[in-house]
Amino acid sequence: MPLQFADRLNNVETSAIRELFKLLGKPGIISFAGGFPDSAMFDVEGLREASQRALTEEPGGALQYGATEGYEPLRTQLAHFMQSKGVKDIDPTGLIVTTGSQQALDLLGKTMISPGDKVIVEGPTFLATIQCFRLYGADLVSAPIDANGVQTDKLEELIKQHKPKLVYLIPTFGNPSGATLSRERRIKVLELAAKYQTLVVEDDPYGDLYFGEAPPPSILALSSEVPGSREWIAHCGSMSKVLSPGLRVGWIIGQPELLAKATMCKQFSDAHTSTFAQATAAQYLKSGRMPATLAKVRQAYGERAQAMGEALKRELGDAIEFTQPKGGLFFWARLTGAGGKVKDAGELAKRAIEKGVAFVPGAPFFAKEPDLSTLRLSFATAGIELIDEGVRRLARGIAS
Ligand code: PMP
Repeated sequence: MPLQFADRLNNVETSAIRELFKLLGKPGIISFAGGFPDSAMFDVEGLREASQRALTEEPGGALQYGATEGYEPLRTQLAHFMQSKGVKDIDPTGLIVTTGSQQALDLLGKTMISPGDKVIVEGPTFLATIQCFRLYGADLVSAPIDANGVQTDKLEELIKQHKPKLVYLIPTFGNPSGATLSRERRIKVLELAAKYQTLVVEDDPYGDLYFGEAPPPSILALSSEVPGSREWIAHCGSMSKVLSPGLRVGWIIGQPELLAKATMCKQFSDAHTSTFAQATAAQYLKSGRMPATLAKVRQAYGERAQAMGEALKRELGDAIEFTQPKGGLFFWARLTGAGGKVKDAGELAKRAIEKGVAFVPGAPFFAKEPDLSTLRLSFATAGIELIDEGVRRLARGIAS
């Protein structure tokens, strides 16, 4: 008799993307598929020094079991970091450290979602959140987005109709959409949160990765402008995209009861985030190297985004539509089918692999009603020459 797995697994399919990733091992493939930052961007020297200081100055703290809420010096540094990004009234007790922001999402799912609860997400949204919330039995409702992020008039209708347990948004350089919610709409989201007393989860791993002008302040930062809204916002942050995903350091800022429940759940899961990683991150933030690191990654990814935008226009012309991203790691594009060319991104993904380039079709990023003509292209890990060559191969895939 086969193993009888828990019923909750019935709601979750193995990811279509994972199947595609298996093909990436083929030699010579240029990958626009992953969501990874570029390893060459890591500030290895800064992290080496930070980890050494963690071991010399605080070996007890860095290597011992620690508090589930997080390592005190890191909570202090993160509170300063968030203050520097316009968040008022934040102190170290106003946040808990998580094992990447992925765990923050899992803890929010675990604390908030009962089977059958409605949860509103953007269409499209982060695939791992779809899977994670479904594991807790969420009935996902998809809110439409445009170039300025989620359409707040539609969002209000959906909140009224479904009375969701929470609304999950990636307001800045969304994954996969690349879209950024306008300041006006952020205020509207805060008004909706306060009016309908609905928890809004702001997932913000990409907000620091902008290429020109800074994006609007986070929804959390703007909550001081909308009375009664702050307690309805849970903000998830991450060190992954700028510093290192391998550190697995993320955090949640939210109202005290929510953090207490999330801490309780975390206690039974991993006890605490690696104290060594936390002490290293704390030392890194204290070292003052972050501004230079931010400047470096913004510059490099900005150049790659520029190169990919130009190559897509040059090589694919009217076969593809996209908005040039102003930050983050991704292009979100739509195949137009112009001139009778391929319109199904899943079909193109197969042809593209044969031509030696990989990307992710957009359909799995939709909780409901997938748009089969969409695709996500990451410009983060390929250098500019490989971007050009990869897009040429994509054009050959479209022409074939
Ligand atoms: N949220 C979003 C939108 C992401 O794109 C990612 C990483 N791909 C995460 C959360 C999780 O990141 P981490 O756990 O490394 O902080």
